[in-house]
Parts: sequence; C-alpha cells; structure tokens
Amino acid sequence: MNEQRAFLDIPRLDHVYRPVDERERDFAEVEMPMSDEQLRQQTSRCMNCGIPFCHGTGCPLDNLIPDFNAAVHRGDWRQAWELLSSTSPFPEFTSRVCPALCEGSCTAGMNCGAVTIRQVEKAIVERAFANGWVQPDQVASRSGRRVAIVGGGPAGLSTAVILNRLGHNVTVYEKNAGPGGLMRYGIPDFKLFKQLIERRVQIMKKSGIRFVCDTEVGRDVSASYLTKQYDHLVLSCGTPVARDLSIPGRELQGIHLALDFLAGQNRANAGELPAPPIVVKGQRVLVIGGGDTGSDCVGTSHRQGAASVTQIEIMPQPPATRSSSTPWPLWPYLLRTSSSHEEGCERRWDLSTTAFVGENGRVSGAKVHPVSWTCAPDGRPLKFTPTGNEEVIACDVVFLALGFIKQSRQQLLEQYGLADSPAISICGDAANGPSLVVRAIADGMAQARTIDTAW
Ligand SMILES: Cc1cc2nc3c(=O)[nH]c(=O)nc-3n(C[C@H](O)[C@H](O)[C@H](O)COP(=O)(O)OP(=O)(O)OC[C@H]3O[C@@H](n4cnc5c(N)ncnc54)[C@H](O)[C@@H]3O)c2cc1C
Repeated sequence: MNEQRAFLDIPRLDHVYRPVDERERDFAEVEMPMSDEQLRQQTSRCMNCGIPFCHGTGCPLDNLIPDFNAAVHRGDWRQAWELLSSTSPFPEFTSRVCPALCEGSCTAGMNCGAVTIRQVEKAIVERAFANGWVQPDQVASRSGRRVAIVGGGPAGLSTAVILNRLGHNVTVYEKNAGPGGLMRYGIPDFKLFKQLIERRVQIMKKSGIRFVCDTEVGRDVSASYLTKQYDHLVLSCGTPVARDLSIPGRELQGIHLALDFLAGQNRANAGELPAPPIVVKGQRVLVIGGGDTGSDCVGTSHRQGAASVTQIEIMPQPPATRSSSTPWPLWPYLLRTSSSHEEGCERRWDLSTTAFVGENGRVSGAKVHPVSWTCAPDGRPLKFTPTGNEEVIACDVVFLALGFIKQSRQQLLEQYGLADSPAISICGDAANGPSLVVRAIADGMAQARTIDTAW
C-alpha cells in the first residue's frame, strides 16, 4: 500500500481534457497531462493488493502495475520505466487509446474509484522519452533467420520488436505510406498524435527492423514469393472489411463507411492528401453504430464544423454503473461517454435502421424503427423485436460504424494464395477479429515467442 487509507481519503482524479471550445478547433490531443503532485497522490491510492487483478486479469500485457505505481509514488521514475518497459513495447500508444482494462479490474474500483493507471503509464513513458531512456534495442547476435510481417499495425509492430530482440531479421511490409495500422489511419489525431508513431518507428529502425511501406502484399509482391524468401511469414493484416448496411437507399450519395471518413481526415492532417475527401461542415451528421469508431466520427465531425451530430445504436443503453453481467474484476459493461460525446451529440439507443430516404440522389434521412430487447436475468440483451412507430431522422451525411468482418484462417490463406503451413502465423485482429490495440500488441508478442520457440 503506497499510503494507508489513501484510496479512501483521496478521490480518483479522472482524465482532464482541454476545454471543448478550444479542442474542437484543432486535431491536437484532447487529454492533458497530470502534474507530478497529482500523480503522486493518485498513485498513493494503489493498495498493492496481494493478488493484483489489474496485472493478472485486466492487462493483456501483464503490466507490473502496483510496482510501477509504487515507483512513481516514490519519485523513482527510472525504476518505473524499467518496470513498464519490461512488459510493454509501446506504452505511449496504450496509455492514450487503451480503454484501461486494468482499471476495470482495480480493487479500489469496487467501491471508491479505480486508480488512474492509464495516466500514470502515460506519464512514465513520456518522461522516459524526455530523459532519453527509450533507446534502440541492442541485439547481441543474429540467428540468420528471416521473418516477413504483412501489416504494420500494433500486432505486426509488436511481433517485429520481439522477434528482432530474439535475434531474427525482421521485415515489415505495409501497404500504406507509413506503419501504424488503424492507430495511424483510423484513430483520430485528437486521441493519438501521429508523431508518436513516427517516434517509435525510428527507434525500431535503429534496432534493426526493416520497413517496406507503400507495398501491398498480394498486389505489389506475392505472399508465396515471401514464403520462399523468408523462413516465416506473419499475417498481421487486420480486418479491413467493414460491415455494411444493405437496406433500401444505401446507394444514395452522402452515405459513407466510417473508416473512409476517419482515414481521409488523418491523411489530410498528415499531408498525404491536400484536404479531407469527405467534409461535413454545416451538415447534419448521423452516425450509425455506438462503438469507438462511431465516437471517433462524432469528434471528427465536430472538428469539421458539422451543424449537428446524432449517434444511434440498435443495442439498449448500457447501465450507468457496472452491469451484474460483468461483475468485478471483469471489464464492466456500462455506459461510456467519450471526449467526443462530451463535445455535443444526441445519443439514441434501441433503434434499428430500416431504410435511407433521399432527394435528388442524396440522402436526406434514415428511417428507424424502435426495438425492444429481451434480456437475460443478469441484464444482458439477448434478442430484439420491433416496437412502436417508425420515424425518419433527418440528416445530410451518414457514417456507418458497424464494425469489421473477421475472416477465418482458411479464408485469409486463400486470399493470399497460400497453402497452410507451420511457417505461417496470423495475429492481431486478423486472427481474433476486431478488438483493441493492447490485445493486438499482446497477441503479436505471443506469436513472436511461439515462432522463436519452434526454432
Ligand atoms: C476508428 C477506430 C478506432 C479505434 N479506436 C480504438 C481505441 O481507441 N482503442 C483501442 O484499443 N482500439 C481501438 N480500435 C481498434 C484497434 O485499432 C485495432 O484493434 C488494432 O489496430 C488492431 O491491430 P492489428 O495490428 O491487428 O491491425 P491493424 O491496426 O488493422 O493493422 C493492419 C495493418 O496491415 C496492413 N495491411 C493489410 N493488408 C496488407 C497487405 N496485403 N499488404 C501490406 N499491408 C497490409 C494495413 O494497412 C494495416 O496497417 C479502433 C479501431 C477503429 C477502426
């Protein structure tokens, strides 16, 4: 325990965001850092539990959370960095975009607010960069084995880091102009500033990892050629196929897949495009889908100057506090309000979209039907039936944020024209379906160790 009773006496300090009217005018990160004194106080709340569920149950990376909390509390930042970097290859990413699964498992969270672990992590990694503690890996000897990684998202990057540390020669093939995957082309800059990806990629290059960007495997170079040139092939290509909505009116202009909107804005911010290809200034935006991607469309629409933003979801509104279907220490099912929602957005639940309506070939509204859900005794929604009257939500632009489709291993291999072989691994979202950055990183690390062990 860092300070007795501190978890009772000191309240959890939640994230602090820049003021809405300031942050809505730019794409800079919305979250502000905590002061050293705030961090000292917040880390004092860590109870150093006998069984730290944050570490064992919550964090897919098994981060040594109570230990780095204690080091920060003592002011021993170097030690905190050694602990954090011993399990996590990219804490600068997870400390910005992770929903903080660890905090969902924090014992203090049961009744007095979880420790603010994510902000502590961010403070440690940024201090480490500022002090020059983040250095390229020195690889003592090389095995002579060669690995090709298809896809430079978090899964591919973490696979690369571990295999390179283990002495293998790693080349990452990335179809886009730069690595990062959805962290670069999906997640908006106001959540994750893209120079942080570049900063890490430079360190990876200096560690000996080779990047071949602007190269699509399957088009610019065949996967079967790579299997001949390399000892092992890793497919960490994500789940690029977005779920669509095949309903009447889908062909109308103004209806877009969410990622086309988000990627276009990120490319424009990065100077890859002169301007975002989809602009919603002065328009009424309807976002269909209540997850992270939908929330990112909300925030991006605000920054472009949308007249209004509405987000609808077919599922019921989650409860304000932890649902009994996800008791502690599980990740709680509850209503989450993002920084983008705080900027203004009408959020509605229990609505099924049945058709789009339009004028002169452009969308002017979405027909929605209320639904009612049959729930399990613990509150989990099971199935819905239409109820009430249909209505039309007027809008000028629609973003479909309905998730992404996972392919089976067999489908992926066929797509790349490959026969199954133990010399081919699949990891990250490509293996497990759409998930989280932290899970992609953890899976990439695990796959790397499996590949190495087989040698
Ligand atoms: C809009 C949006 C917001 C999100 N927000 C969050 C969030 O806040 N927090 C969070 O934890 N998670 C978030 N996620 C989920 C998270 O981004 C993903 O789970 C994670 O990026 C998956 O990592 P990955 O490496 O498996 O795949 P990806 O990140 O999809 O990377 C795959 C890479 O493979 C490349 N590639 C694909 N095919 C080829 C090919 N043939 N040749 C060469 N390269 C190829 C792609 O260009 C891409 O760079 C979000 C997702 C989206 C879409």
